[in-house]
Amino acid sequence: MPHMMVDAEVLVCGAGPVGLTCAFLLAEAGMAVALIDAAEAVDTSPRAAFHHGPTARALEQLGLMEDLAENAFIGGQTGHWAPEFDYLRKIRFDGIMVGQDAICDVLVQRLRAMPNVSLAMATELTALRQESDRVVVQLRDAGGERSLTCRWLVGADGARSAVRRTCGIAFDGHTWADRVYAANIACDLAGQGLADAQFRADPRNWAVVVRLDRHGNWRVAFGDDGSEAVADEIAGATARLAEFIPGGLPFDLLQLSPYRTHQRAASTMRQDRVLLIGDAAHISAPWGGLGLTMGFWDAFVLGDLLPEVAAGRIAPGALDAFSQERLRIFNEIVSPAVSENRRILQERDPARRREDIARFDALADSSEMQKAFGEMSRAFIGDPLVENSRWLA
Ligand SMILES: Cc1cc2nc3c(=O)[nH]c(=O)nc-3n(C[C@H](O)[C@H](O)[C@H](O)COP(=O)(O)OP(=O)(O)OC[C@H]3O[C@@H](n4cnc5c(N)ncnc54)[C@H](O)[C@@H]3O)c2cc1C
Repeated sequence: MPHMMVDAEVLVCGAGPVGLTCAFLLAEAGMAVALIDAAEAVDTSPRAAFHHGPTARALEQLGLMEDLAENAFIGGQTGHWAPEFDYLRKIRFDGIMVGQDAICDVLVQRLRAMPNVSLAMATELTALRQESDRVVVQLRDAGGERSLTCRWLVGADGARSAVRRTCGIAFDGHTWADRVYAANIACDLAGQGLADAQFRADPRNWAVVVRLDRHGNWRVAFGDDGSEAVADEIAGATARLAEFIPGGLPFDLLQLSPYRTHQRAASTMRQDRVLLIGDAAHISAPWGGLGLTMGFWDAFVLGDLLPEVAAGRIAPGALDAFSQERLRIFNEIVSPAVSENRRILQERDPARRREDIARFDALADSSEMQKAFGEMSRAFIGDPLVENSRWLA
């Protein structure tokens, strides 16, 4: 039976960093892409800023790095900081530090210039129905409700994914009790000898401190155990930051967002013609810069695989293999690593805090640290499922 016409070959729901990246790859491969987002504009709240080496190299391969350079800090040093023991040790790092909003801005500009892409903001997916050869999606925008048909639907619509919920896909796991604050500050932390990115291990004032750019802007992600009510978040955060910014250095609080953190994964990332990627498929706390890293690699892998499946060059079963491989990486590597990073940051036992320092020292003194970083980073790529994948070159 011939295929019925559709409005778009693929609809990507969600113009966060993962949906934008996937849409970019699919469009580059020649697919007719519709991209929608419920929000009026790209989200600028402080979230991912730290990206591992392979992601930096992939962004370079996609020709995006030049546009990102102005707002990024490339390479540098990462470290472990334990002020109680007067300990700060740094090692070389081959990734990139840049706000995810800056990456989104660059991708939006690229996508708007592509003739085979339509991008509609303020457009929400409210329902979907799968048929044998297409997906029928209900959308709501300023003009009211309308439907759109596509061959494939990619749900990149974040942790509360409407695509995932509409498909009835479970999202099991847990929510941590911690309350986490992401603060962007202007402060001369480099002048205090800090690394460009570090864990600050401390039972009370634990934090991840990351340089955002070359202009003196930093991200401090810190938290509390969530047990006490917070009357004034700005005043509370300013007081907490003052407790652990070294040398009583002055700082300007530029942006602050509170978060709850979760470790959850979808039961599957594929249901027939619907795929889930990014936070819609798996979510983890931000300790170690693994959340968007995982999402980016979903997008890089699916962005090369789906055009091959759509063109009939690879059997659709590869999309089940994609789901299994990505969930294996999340459940076996990313989620345990995030839990261990959280423990290191918040460890209350002084003996274990010393052991963590000794372990960092041992790794930093050998070539093992670089090797461990390299292996961990490559692990995100997993099996790219296409022959001669550019990601393994
Ligand atoms: C404080 C903090 C710090 C972090 N730091 C790092 C880090 O340094 N490194 C790292 O790798 N990760 C980090 N992360 C994780 C990272 O921010 C997320 O993994 C990333 O935002 C996921 O991107 P996404 O595109 O999947 O989802 P999102 O960014 O959530 O985007 C989803 C998009 O879908 C849209 N949408 C939702 N519902 C609908 C609908 N029904 N119809 C249409 N559109 C819809 C939304 O408007 C949104 O634009 C951090 C997270 C936090 C909270």
